[in-house]
Amino acid sequence: MHPQLAEDLATIDSLFETVKLQGLDYLQQLSQRPTTAVAVEYSQNLSDEGVGTLKALELFNRQFEPVIIGSSGPRFLGFVTGGSTPAAIAGDWLASVYDQNTQATSGQGDISAIIEKATINLLLELFGLPKSFLGGFVTGATMSNFTCLATARQWAGKCQGKNIAQNGITQGLHVLSANAHSSILKSMSMLGIGSANILKVEMEEGNRESIDLFDLENKIALLNGQPFMLVSSAGTVNTVDFDNFKAIAALKVKYNFWWHIDAAFGAFAACSPQYRELLDGWEYADSITIDCHKWLNVPYENAVFFIKAQHQHLQVETFQNSNAPYLGSLTDQFSYLNFLPENSRRLKALPVWFSLTAYGKNGFRAIVENAVDMARRLGEFISSSEQFALLAPVRLNNVCFTLKDNGDPELVAVFLEQLNRTGKVFMTPTVYKGEKGIRASFVNWRTSIHDLEIITTTMISIARSINN
Ligand SMILES: *Cc1c(COP(=O)(O)O)cnc(C)c1O
Repeated sequence: MHPQLAEDLATIDSLFETVKLQGLDYLQQLSQRPTTAVAVEYSQNLSDEGVGTLKALELFNRQFEPVIIGSSGPRFLGFVTGGSTPAAIAGDWLASVYDQNTQATSGQGDISAIIEKATINLLLELFGLPKSFLGGFVTGATMSNFTCLATARQWAGKCQGKNIAQNGITQGLHVLSANAHSSILKSMSMLGIGSANILKVEMEEGNRESIDLFDLENKIALLNGQPFMLVSSAGTVNTVDFDNFKAIAALKVKYNFWWHIDAAFGAFAACSPQYRELLDGWEYADSITIDCHKWLNVPYENAVFFIKAQHQHLQVETFQNSNAPYLGSLTDQFSYLNFLPENSRRLKALPVWFSLTAYGKNGFRAIVENAVDMARRLGEFISSSEQFALLAPVRLNNVCFTLKDNGDPELVAVFLEQLNRTGKVFMTPTVYKGEKGIRASFVNWRTSIHDLEIITTTMISIARSINN
């Protein structure tokens, strides 16, 4: 054994104690940690002998630690960024420690897929979804959308008598959507469908980002009965709008299409009786994407897909890994190897299993309702303020706003830049219905009224300073 490895192994006790204390220190100071840092370029040569983990930690603490931002903290409102609960971190640590390769539920060696399947069932319960869905873990909602659309692609091929997984794409794949997330287009590009081949459906009138059902039927008519894939939204990124799932479910009776729902974070509306009805009818979808590293507050990289069990053959045709004889036959056992894009995978289910087991339905109800409450309060502050104006109603956990009309649209960017530079809060820019604006997204489990006070005070003082 190399001496550095031998020494690390001999001192693993004190080593991990040091790392644990450092981690605790970070978590305890998280709310004071700046939400931005100045980027520094860094280069290093690979040494021959290495320095051991303790010295590596010292180097990390000198070079990187000071510029690591509080993005897992309570006032990082950019994108849709969750944090990590204690249970999630415990599960994630143990996933590294046990270092299983999650593939099969029986047979050769590792059986951690049993934990994955059990965790998928807990998630179905959390979301109130039927057991007719089979699910699995992937790295993020992008890969979840990819997995669902890959299976949808196989379905669309089959409708035309083609096996696309085996023979490649010919043509004639149609995707319809009103407000597809960028990752849908990325998935279409990776799947050879081509991101330009999205048929854009109009959004509903007024302050909506949801699919216009009348226009949807017009667009369907243009396809002359050809099969198509419909991508609908449970939670658009700007204003968290939801498509009318009951109405779309009714269309399933009339038309031949694969129905996918991107519910990356909107799925969590199901955790609260107050918001659950936004999702009414979603159980009739063929596939659903949900991110865990957002509102479930587990560490990156963690998401699930749910695909109806009746489509399992399409999924296995798409992802089968059966040309490797040493991995055994397809039909022996259930294996995630033949079910999703990755082959070797860490035990991503564990942080989710810990979280769901530790906090239960009401724990997540509280996280969701708190985030929505924070967003509503920020929305109320904005609509009653002199400096700011809402761009859209606050539907759930995102606030989309701008500066009050002052004749200079560039000021929005100046305001945001200065706001973020304070390091006390982080928000991201957006464009809503052609207007430049700012988005604040509440998903972190720690955010409190106290944080909101810091946020609004900082917003007011920046707005005053740029108006002078
Ligand atoms: C975040 C998000 C995605 C992409 O998720 P990643 O986890 O970044 O891959 C897809 N769709 C929606 C609606 C999202 O909010």
